[in-house]
Amino acid sequence: MKAYISVDLEGINGILHSSQTQPNEPGYGRAVRLLHEETNAVIEGLLEGGVKEIVVNDSHWDARNLHIEELINHPGIFLRSGWQKPFSMVSGLNEAERRPDFAVFLGYHARAGHARGVLSHTYRAQIFFEVRLDGKPVGETGLNAALAGHFGVPVAMLSGDDTVIEEARDWLGDIACAQVKEAVSRYSAVFPCQKESLGKLRETARTAALNKKHWQLFQAKQPCSIEITMFDPSMADAAELIPGIERLSARDIAIKHSDYSVAFRLMLAVGALGASRRDPYFS
Ligand SMILES: [Zn+2]
Repeated sequence: MKAYISVDLEGINGILHSSQTQPNEPGYGRAVRLLHEETNAVIEGLLEGGVKEIVVNDSHWDARNLHIEELINHPGIFLRSGWQKPFSMVSGLNEAERRPDFAVFLGYHARAGHARGVLSHTYRAQIFFEVRLDGKPVGETGLNAALAGHFGVPVAMLSGDDTVIEEARDWLGDIACAQVKEAVSRYSAVFPCQKESLGKLRETARTAALNKKHWQLFQAKQPCSIEITMFDPSMADAAELIPGIERLSARDIAIKHSDYSVAFRLMLAVGALGASRRDPYFS
């Protein structure tokens, strides 16, 4: 059995501020230590559940947060690291020879615009005000699950705060979830005992691997529609440079395509183009 872990940082126990997620900021070193501990807990659980091969996809920022020598030393464990990589947080699922039986989303966070989710955002925190899939506000959980589903890979497990778990259940149904903190507000959380949350991650991963009833294949409707409210109209102007992208209003653009993997890449391109219009002087 093969598994795939998409690892983000904002949903890890102990993390509540954006500065902790940025290399060169004082809290980053500690954040990365916590990230390795949670990733290793999930790897241990998956190995106990009979998984033989695990691809760990570093999915945060420039994707150079995880270090191979600090992951559990075990044959069959691969770290997909570095930036840029196709399909970003779910990179590699399109490669048939390494295709996993299921995916795990670890350290995930609520969508942009959630009232309470810790460090809520959707892909581009300062570019995407809101992203909607088939008309409904969506976060990285739903967008990435749909990409996995497009390539035939179900999602079996997710971890993060209570708000992203609610989001995952809403989009994906009964996947195995490990709550590792309780959201108070976007920058505040209640952290449980770390030993307890690592144990929960390990046990949830083991259960997810053993129990196919938790594996949920999620597929977007066809043709799919991804609408994005950009932070300002100049970012929507930039998005409109891409042929086929429709301008809906000053800030809103629409991506429509029969192939979800194309729509997903267009969304990433809109984010990259939008970032080129970020105003360095307005505060
Ligand atoms: Zn994220």
